[in-house]
Amino acid sequence: MSKKIGGRLSLVAFLCLLFVAYRWFDLGQYLSLESLKVHQASLHSFYLEHPGIVAVIFAIVYVLSTALSLPGATILTLAGGAIFGLGLGVALVSFSSTLGATLAFLASRFFLRDLIQDKFKDKITKVNQGIKKEGAFYLLTLRLVPIFPFFLINLVMGLTSIRTMTYFFVSQIGMLPGTIVYVNAGTQLAKIDSLNGILSPELLFSFSLIGILPLLSKWALEFYRSGKYIRKYKRPKSFDFNMVVIGGGSGGLVSAYIAAAIKAKVALIEKHKMGGDCLNTGCVPSKALIRSAKIFSYFERAIEFGFENPSVKMDFSKVMDRVQKIIKEIEPHDSIERYSKMGVECFQGTAKILSPYEVEVNGKILRTKNIVVATGASPLVPPLPGLSEVPYLTSDTLWNLRTLPRRLVVLGGGPIGCELAQSFARFGSQVSLVEMAPRILNREDEEVSSFVTEKFRNEGVSVLVGHKALSFETTGKNERVLVCESLGRELRIPFDEVLIALGRKANVKGFGLEELGVEISSGGTVVADQHLRVTNYPNIYVVGDVTGPYQFTHTASHQAWYVAVNALFSPFKKYKVDYRVIPWCTFTDPEVARVGLNEMEAKEKGIAYEVTRYGIEDLDRAIAEGEAHGFVKLLTSPGSDRILGATILGSHAGEIIAEYVAAMKHGLGLNKILGTIHIYPTFAEANKYAAGVWKRANAPQKALEFLSKYHKWRRS
Ligand SMILES: Cc1cc2nc3c(=O)[nH]c(=O)nc-3n(C[C@H](O)[C@H](O)[C@H](O)COP(=O)(O)OP(=O)(O)OC[C@H]3O[C@@H](n4cnc5c(N)ncnc54)[C@H](O)[C@@H]3O)c2cc1C
Repeated sequence: MSKKIGGRLSLVAFLCLLFVAYRWFDLGQYLSLESLKVHQASLHSFYLEHPGIVAVIFAIVYVLSTALSLPGATILTLAGGAIFGLGLGVALVSFSSTLGATLAFLASRFFLRDLIQDKFKDKITKVNQGIKKEGAFYLLTLRLVPIFPFFLINLVMGLTSIRTMTYFFVSQIGMLPGTIVYVNAGTQLAKIDSLNGILSPELLFSFSLIGILPLLSKWALEFYRSGKYIRKYKRPKSFDFNMVVIGGGSGGLVSAYIAAAIKAKVALIEKHKMGGDCLNTGCVPSKALIRSAKIFSYFERAIEFGFENPSVKMDFSKVMDRVQKIIKEIEPHDSIERYSKMGVECFQGTAKILSPYEVEVNGKILRTKNIVVATGASPLVPPLPGLSEVPYLTSDTLWNLRTLPRRLVVLGGGPIGCELAQSFARFGSQVSLVEMAPRILNREDEEVSSFVTEKFRNEGVSVLVGHKALSFETTGKNERVLVCESLGRELRIPFDEVLIALGRKANVKGFGLEELGVEISSGGTVVADQHLRVTNYPNIYVVGDVTGPYQFTHTASHQAWYVAVNALFSPFKKYKVDYRVIPWCTFTDPEVARVGLNEMEAKEKGIAYEVTRYGIEDLDRAIAEGEAHGFVKLLTSPGSDRILGATILGSHAGEIIAEYVAAMKHGLGLNKILGTIHIYPTFAEANKYAAGVWKRANAPQKALEFLSKYHKWRRS
């Protein structure tokens, strides 16, 4: 037994002993109104003879009874008034009750907090964040309104992360008005017939008012603060729009669509191409390119599938033409025509925010109740020496290429870098994937990175992890070179094209946010509250890459619902954005899809978990398709089928993860997945098999032993 557990057990034993003694000697009988009235005179005269001793004993008894959460605090408080009078009575009761409350609070913290925090770590983290921000206000309210049970407040607050000193002082202040009322009643004990009469409904009501006062003042303060900036601007008498959306990418389009669907008057301003990044330079072209590269990789493997002398010529310019054709095909989904038909007033031009109520586009001023900033992000290009002298590609410009680079350097081993590096290698470029971190895809678990790295190396990608790009040079022979450093050694990589894929920086400049003084995070994104509103204007909202924290099309669309609803219905109704179940996929081959926690994050956050792994090499459909590789890796709460996260590495991972996304979103565990019929033979069966692996590892051994005996008996 550890020292810590031993100490706790001894303390529990001691507390139990005190409690038993209290019951055994029936000390409760002395803590009644009748008993107090009977003994009042003798207690008072004893106090006059030995004032110091009586005061100390009273304080000790008070502290112990409150610390042990014994009933009778009200009687003791009345006794305080009856014996010591108002002044000393209030002082003694106030300090003793606060000390007792703090001891009960510490006991709850000591015995239960670790247990509760471990068990409900993810939920408690949120509570603790709230407590950190507003805990003192809530505690003060609870203390001021005497209808909340004293011992319960001690117990519950002990489980949170509120600081002990804060707890002590706020409790002291919060309990003071109630203490004064009861001690004062004690000074006129003879007039009291029942405890119920002490707090009249009127007094209770007054206390409740006092109780909500701190919260009301806090809300008023917040209201004042949020209005502080906006008050500087003249509010128009009427508005042209309920909402003006700046940016016609995923976030802006969906916000405008939802607003129009619920009959708001909404304007959408786009300065470049409708559809934004995703349609024009992001998801759509990259997935179209990946498809061509994949088809080409199948030709490379043609013999494996039973073809002889396969010979296919790749025409890169035609591949890129197809990419543009795909964009054109999808374009109508995001077009001005479509959105206009929905009732969105679309403007082609650069928006400029003039005030929280006015947005200018093409010289026209739109007066609006709310502004939604959906300006997205742009490729991050670091100021590396020499970079501006070599023509470089980014995800914005790559799509103009028509000649396949013979040697391509991809700088950055994140999802975009990896997807494009593999595609170009498959087309035949000599690709060097340069990553400063020790591994590519470093948000995923180590084994995922190693698997993808090995696959890339087998396909001819030179994966250079732990390589820091230092500078770019153009040699005398007009050859472009990337100079990087690894383990103290310098490496020079000649190339024909370089693709910078080092992340994306939010578009926050040049359209009025700076002038308004909107808060920008250290990472360069617009800071938003839980309702996706900027921190200093109550009517400016942000959505998508410009605010993050995720930079995906589906998260931008997810946020868009909150933005539209909050903008249009606040202050009557507003919703906190829900980031609990966010999936994503890196579309390399094999794909890497994830939802919830992976092992690395669970460890970082100190969340207890169990791992279940199912190898896709066993999956019939994967074998039939020649894609029998990868795995499903599940994290569950220990001893339960609750899914904390899923990572799938394999063919179609981005599709089959959807089942875990739905399960997590709706609180379904692995038993439910196991009990669901999956079509044979599909990749989705991997989910069921993974659940089966979990089930076998968690089978009740005792029940199985019993069953074994039962079957033996049936055979006899
Ligand atoms: C290569 C690549 C591949 C990707 N693949 C995927 C993927 O597979 N899945 C996925 O979920 N995500 C993917 N993404 C990310 C995805 O594209 C973005 O997360 C998404 O487009 C963000 O949408 P948004 O509305 O925030 O911004 P954007 O789509 O960037 O839209 C912002 C729009 O605002 C406009 N704008 C900016 N300033 C102004 C102004 N002052 N006035 C008027 N208009 C303005 C811009 O022109 C732009 O059209 C990929 C990104 C890249 C680069």
